[in-house]
This record gives sequence, C-alpha cells and structure tokens, in this order.
Amino acid sequence: MDSVLNPQLVVITGCMFSGKTEELIRQLKRSRIAGLGVVTFKPARDTRTGAEVKSRSGGTLDAHEVKDSAEILTIVKDVDHVVGIDEAQFFDPGLVDVVLQLIRKKKRVIVSGLDTDSFEKPFEVMAQLIALAHPVVKLTAVCMKCRVREATRSQRLNESFDRIQVGDGEYEPRCLGCYEPVIR
Ligand SMILES: [Zn+2]
Repeated sequence: MDSVLNPQLVVITGCMFSGKTEELIRQLKRSRIAGLGVVTFKPARDTRTGAEVKSRSGGTLDAHEVKDSAEILTIVKDVDHVVGIDEAQFFDPGLVDVVLQLIRKKKRVIVSGLDTDSFEKPFEVMAQLIALAHPVVKLTAVCMKCRVREATRSQRLNESFDRIQVGDGEYEPRCLGCYEPVIR
C-alpha cells in the first residue's frame, strides 16, 4: 500500500457555509473505500460537535479531538495512510510543522479550514498551509444577500470583535459586492 501512496498536502478552504467539511468527509471516505487507513482530527475548541467531524448537510466521520497540534503526532500510526484535519484555522501555529512531518512520513494530509476571518484577514496557519499545498480546493457558497453571486467572504452579523467566535447564526456568506467591511 505504501508504495502506491504519494505523500500529498491537500487544502480545502473558502468562506463559511461553502461545504469545506462536506468535501473533507467525501475525500476521506473515498480513501477509506480504497482500503487506506484514515485518521481524522479536529481542535478541541470547536464546540459544535462531539468527537466527530460533521458537515451541515449531515455527513459525519469519527474524529479525535486534540488540545493542540503536537497531540496529532502522538496518535497517527504507521497504518494510517491519510490524515484529515478539520477546522484547521483554530489550531496553533505548530500545525504547519506537524503537517510537514506527516508528509515526510509519506502520509497524505487533507486539511479543511477557513481562509480568512470576517475582517478579511487570513488565518496565519491556513495561509501557510495554502502556500505549501497542492491542490488547493477553494470552495464558495451562494451569497446570502443577492442570492446570485459566488460568496467568498464570511460576513459577521453582530458587533463582536472576537475573531474566533463559533456559531453559525453569527455569520452569513457574502460575495465581494455585498460584503460590508467591518471596521475595527
Ligand atoms: Zn452578493
């Protein structure tokens, strides 16, 4: 099995509600069907679901909740060919080195996460992973204001300046024409 698996870093990114987790689950399940060992991680701070990765359309996959990126290396085993990481924007900066170490161990790493926050500022860990990845899968949602154009921004709907607020009701996807910059 190892002889045919190319080490690879895939990043699935985009705004909120663009189907990133759904695509991550699809790719990981496809790997599992092919007989590859798959292990999946999510940061413990994401309180939306339990010890599984869950898409808004209902797909689920068992996942390890880890307190930091270093814990990932203690859990991944030789039999794991493919490593999935969801909500990567919430991980510490050490995630980049952890991913590179996994690649050197001939793993295929598939990362999903937001590219920017609602202030249009890149999440640093995602910006670095996007720079190192091939392919980068950039997904869009439908703009919730004009309901026509491709949404690439996560519009915050309340006054909070907390960057990592978790909660779907606080955001909606917007296209560049409808996005209203939040002035801090
Ligand atoms: Zn729009």
